[in-house]
Amino acid sequence: MRRLLTAAGLVACSMTAAHAQTAQELTKTDTHYVLNYGMDYGQQRYSPLTQINADTVKRLVPAWNLSYDDSRSEESQPLVYNGVLYVTTNSATIAVDAKTGKQIWKTKVEYPPETPRVVCCGIINRGAALYEGKIIRGTLDAKLVALDAKTGKVLWKSDVADMKAGYTMTGAPQIADGVIMTGISGAEFGTRDFIDGWDPADGKHLWRTYTVPLPNEKGGDTWPGDTAKYGGGSTWITGSFDPELHTVYWGIGNPGPFNASGRKGDNLYTCSVLALDPKTGAIKWHYQFSPNNPFDYDSVAEMILSTIDVKGTPTKVLIDANRNGFIYVLDRTNGKLIAANPYVKVNWASSVDLATGRPVETDVSTKARAGEMVDIYPSILGGKNWEPGSFDAKRGLAFYNTLNFGGHYKAVPAEYKQGEWYVGMDLSNPWAWPEGPRGYLKAVDPMTGKAKWEAPSDIPRFSGVLSTGGGVVFSGQLTGEFEAFNSDTGEKLWSFKTGSGIEGQPITWEQDGEQYVAVSVGIGGVYSLFSGDERLAAVPPGGSLWAFKLLK
Ligand code: CA
Repeated sequence: MRRLLTAAGLVACSMTAAHAQTAQELTKTDTHYVLNYGMDYGQQRYSPLTQINADTVKRLVPAWNLSYDDSRSEESQPLVYNGVLYVTTNSATIAVDAKTGKQIWKTKVEYPPETPRVVCCGIINRGAALYEGKIIRGTLDAKLVALDAKTGKVLWKSDVADMKAGYTMTGAPQIADGVIMTGISGAEFGTRDFIDGWDPADGKHLWRTYTVPLPNEKGGDTWPGDTAKYGGGSTWITGSFDPELHTVYWGIGNPGPFNASGRKGDNLYTCSVLALDPKTGAIKWHYQFSPNNPFDYDSVAEMILSTIDVKGTPTKVLIDANRNGFIYVLDRTNGKLIAANPYVKVNWASSVDLATGRPVETDVSTKARAGEMVDIYPSILGGKNWEPGSFDAKRGLAFYNTLNFGGHYKAVPAEYKQGEWYVGMDLSNPWAWPEGPRGYLKAVDPMTGKAKWEAPSDIPRFSGVLSTGGGVVFSGQLTGEFEAFNSDTGEKLWSFKTGSGIEGQPITWEQDGEQYVAVSVGIGGVYSLFSGDERLAAVPPGGSLWAFKLLK
C-alpha cells in the first residue's frame, strides 16, 4: 500500500500518514528514504543512485551544515523519511529538514548526574530506529526511549539495565517482525550481556536472551565455575535482519576478562554471531569465530547480508570482516561456514578449518594464554573495529576501513569490582605501529579476503563506508577529510575538509531530483582516546552534520 515509489505516492502518503513506517515498508528499498541502520536490513550500505558518480563527484559541494552543539564522538547514522532527517547524539535526538538543514526539533536526553562520563570507549550514540511514527533510541544510562517523530515529545521510556553495574547503550535499535531489538555494552566491566525484545507500542519488555549461558543452561558447560556471571558478550552494534527467513543476525562481543586463564572452555556465545527469532529471542543457530578469546576480538560489527554465487548456486550468505582478522562467509540459512580468509595480517591463527569451523591457532595464542608477552596481529582493536563497511553486490566487493597495526599483549590478573574495568591485560604499551600507513580502505573479495585495491591512510580511518551505483565509495578521515573513491580502481576522486574528525556513517538519498550525501562529523572515539597518536592533537572536537550535493 505505501510503497511510495512515485512522486504521486509520496504526496498521498504525506497527506495520510506522514510519519507511518510499517513493518512492510522497512523491507522496501526506496532511494528517497534511509529507514534502516546500515541503509537496508542487510546492512550493505549501498545505494543504487547514480547522479553522483565517478565523473560528476568532482562537482560535489556542501548543501548545508548543522551544529550538534555537542563535542563527543559523532558516530550516528541518520535516517531519512519524507524529507526529514533524524539523527542522534549521545545527548540529543534531532529532526532536520533534509533539503535545507534547518533544525525542526531537538529533544535533549535528560541524564541523571551519576551517569558515567567515562565509558569504554567514548561517549557515543550510533543511531535510532524509525517505526510507526516513533523515533526509538538508547541512552548512555541504559534506557530505551521512544519520541514522537513529528514533535520530538517523549512517548515512553523503558529501563534496560543498571548503569552502575557498567551497562551502557550506544547502538541503534533494530525493528524486526514488529519487535524492537536492542543490544547492550559493558563487557569491559564484567557484565553478563544480552539482547532484548520490546513492544514498539508502549515499550513493554517482551523477552531477553543472554549471550552468556549460566552453568545450568545450554552452552553453560563452556564456562568453568561462576565465570559466566562476569562473562561479557556485549551486543553493542545493531544486528541485520532477513525478513524472508524471519531471522536477525546479531554479533556478540568479547568474553570478560580478556585474560582467558580463569575461563577455560569455548565461552559461548562470545565472539560469535547468533541467528535469532525476533518474536521470541530464541537462538536458531550460532557460529563462534574466536573460541576462548584472549584478545578482545568482539564479533559485534556489521553482519552484511547478500545473495552471492557460491560454486554456481545463488546462496543466502552473511559476510563478516571480523575483528580477529579473517573475513567469513556463512550460509545464513543454517550457519555453515563457506569461506574464511585473512583480510589483514593475522598471527594468532594460521587459518580456519572449513570442516569444523574452528580457527587453527598458532603458538601466539598458546603463549598469550600462558601469560607470556606476545606480539599479536591484529591488535586488540582488530583488523577492523566497529566502523561499518559496505558491499557492492554487482562488483562483488566489500569496502572496509582496515587497521594495519599489531599489538603487544600480556595477560595480568583481573579482579571483579562492580562498575570498574575488568580486563586483565597490561595496557601500558598495547600497540605495535608499522612504518608507514596505519590503515587502508580496501576493496575486498569476501570469498578470498584478497583486496582488488587499497587506499592507504597514515592515520587509520575510523568512519563508516558507503558505496553507490555511481561507482563511488565514500569514507572519512580522523583529520576531517570526507573522501570519495572510484569503486573499481580506488582512485581518490574528491575530498572536502570538514571541521573535526570523521567517525560517522555516510548515507545517501534522493530529494526533489537531487542526490544528497550526509555524514556526521566529530572526533572522540576509541582510536583518538587510546592510540596516543599525536597527529590528532590538532584536530578539534565539535559535532555537526554535513550534507553535500552536486553543484548545478
Ligand atoms: Ca570489547
